[in-house]
Amino acid sequence: MSMFQDERPDAKKIATDRPKKLGPVRAWSYSTLKKFETCPYQIYIEKVKKIPQDSSPAADRGSAIHLEAEDYVKGDLGEEVPKNLQKFKADFEELRSLYEEGKVELEGEWGFDLDMQPVGWLEDKTWGRIKLDAMVLEDETSARVIDYKTGRKDGNEIPHSHQALLYAIGAFYKYPDLQYAQTELWYLDKGETMIKNYTRNDAMVFAPGYYKRAIRMTTATEFDPTPSKQNCRWCSYRKGDEPQCVHGIE
Ligand code: SF4
Repeated sequence: MSMFQDERPDAKKIATDRPKKLGPVRAWSYSTLKKFETCPYQIYIEKVKKIPQDSSPAADRGSAIHLEAEDYVKGDLGEEVPKNLQKFKADFEELRSLYEEGKVELEGEWGFDLDMQPVGWLEDKTWGRIKLDAMVLEDETSARVIDYKTGRKDGNEIPHSHQALLYAIGAFYKYPDLQYAQTELWYLDKGETMIKNYTRNDAMVFAPGYYKRAIRMTTATEFDPTPSKQNCRWCSYRKGDEPQCVHGIE
């Protein structure tokens, strides 16, 4: 008996749950899902009214460091590992040589349709989007999926482990022969990691749960605000002389 499955065990289950009609927010990513579950109204403002949240210094710094990491691994910044990446010096050096060997996919933008079949990032039928920093294809059946983090690990263990699991699920959908995925979150500021290992079956058990959450957001027609001190803390829609949201709590 082959050790590999001929067909994804989740394929039929996913197909039977397919909705007939989507709402005004037609696509999801892990971060939009998190925001929607925190306060649907912020997703309404961002995705339906198309008014982006103000950027923050922390987000700008994160974007700059991600770009630096990508450029280093591609070989565009020379031999020396940049200062911001020094806590992972040996790991970045390894990633860079694996990239030279053609084993690394960088800044992967994975789009999926409603049946979780891989499609482009910006197609009409793109329903789900998973963006990762680096993926090392060790062989056809085994991969490392890497995400760089500039924020804190402390206090974020649960959302970050959920995000890592979604990367694993996305990798299994994207690469049908893949049987093992190791997810690695690299906390660049502190030199910490969060590493998890999944077999295809381990990860895919959780796929229907993510699917339902994504369906809930992409079929929603009501986006009521759910203000609280915690929910509104990082939301810029409550700020300014004419705030987008008048329900915000300081
Ligand atoms: S300010 Fe609060 S209630 Fe208003 S959109 Fe933002 S999170 Fe929601």
